Amino acid sequence: MALVNDHFLKLPNNYLFADIAKKVNIFKAQNPRADIISLGIGDVTQPLCPAVIEALHRATDEMASAGTFHGYGPEQGYDFLRDAILKNDFLPRGIHLDRDEIFINDGAKSDTGNIQELIRWDNSIAVTDPIYPVYIDSNVMIGRAGIKGDDGRWSNVIYLPCTAENNFIPQLPAQRVDVIYLCYPNTPTGTALSRDELKRWVNYALKNDTLIFFDAAYEAYIQHPDVPHSIYEIKGARRCAIEFHSYSKTAGFTGIRCGYTVVPKEVTVATLYGERLPLNPLWNRRQSTKFNGTSYLSQRAAEATYSPEGRLQIRKTIDYYMLNARHMKETLRKIGLKVFGGDDGPYLWVQAPSGMTSWRFFEQMLYNTHVVCTPGVGFGPSGEGYVRLTAFGTHEQTDEALERIKNFY
Ligand code: PLP
Repeated sequence: MALVNDHFLKLPNNYLFADIAKKVNIFKAQNPRADIISLGIGDVTQPLCPAVIEALHRATDEMASAGTFHGYGPEQGYDFLRDAILKNDFLPRGIHLDRDEIFINDGAKSDTGNIQELIRWDNSIAVTDPIYPVYIDSNVMIGRAGIKGDDGRWSNVIYLPCTAENNFIPQLPAQRVDVIYLCYPNTPTGTALSRDELKRWVNYALKNDTLIFFDAAYEAYIQHPDVPHSIYEIKGARRCAIEFHSYSKTAGFTGIRCGYTVVPKEVTVATLYGERLPLNPLWNRRQSTKFNGTSYLSQRAAEATYSPEGRLQIRKTIDYYMLNARHMKETLRKIGLKVFGGDDGPYLWVQAPSGMTSWRFFEQMLYNTHVVCTPGVGFGPSGEGYVRLTAFGTHEQTDEALERIKNFY
């Protein structure tokens, strides 16, 4: 008899977006003619740029003949992509990493979920709240998060609230913690941390021997020079932080799948016997065992985002979405809603009017404007009373959604 991993049974039945889809489907069944605009799930709408498409065609042609065909690739990724990453994402920022500190993956979701396998089940973890649900759910699955209380908080997770009251800048934990998840620019709030603020976190981590898992999936959306694109821009971070990147939002790879994780050799963890072990070889061992590499096609496509044309083309698409973000923020503020984020990230975090709950605001918007947003409480208890809107719509959809929201509110 196989016994279930009963930590899985502690998870809420549905993923947030499945709950939303269910509610939208009920609405659709009742209102079959309604023209629904989704500004909820964070998927992109613009196609892959020409440089990426050309690279995909070239790579496909290579697969068609025996001499250039690619089978299993290195689990850690092809050198051509790892080198392009070092040269383009890190060297220009004064960050010197080795090729074997970069691990190519099939998107940041896998590695942000998997990374916690490297640490014991009884480490303490802290998350900024609200947050990308994968961080907590992956810890629930292994039994590290404890039990979920009626207030929506897991008993072994330390929550660092980010709300309008603290301008979405989390306070350092009052106690020492073993691991902290940070995501900047942030989903769901669309807010960012300045260099000085991020420095406080790195200094806390160095002082308290804390490991930081830093999710930089949205770094390409940063507009202000004072906002770091990588935690390694901060001195000392390579001793305490692992960083996750994704081409999903940078270059529209949500359907192609490619990202990477940086595990500097200087990041170490303790054994029960007081030794220190570097995480880099452990992650390498984990990946070699459980992961068989990202497809050659995806990696050639990712490489193309660094070509001169590719860089210009993906920048154009990011500018396109950020124009939506600016327009959304201005319009929603003009009609009196409290709106945050959207300056250095593609999300708008909107406070529900007059004490309404997140789900109530979601329903009000769906039923009265036929616009789908994401209830903030789905990202954690401090998200209650907010909803998230994405800037990933087309200009036309976004303008239409704003027009309807303006008319209703
Ligand atoms: N990290 C954050 C903060 C995200 O919001 C997302 C996706 O929405 C991901 C990671 C996952 O991205 P990927 O498509 O690379 O798996």
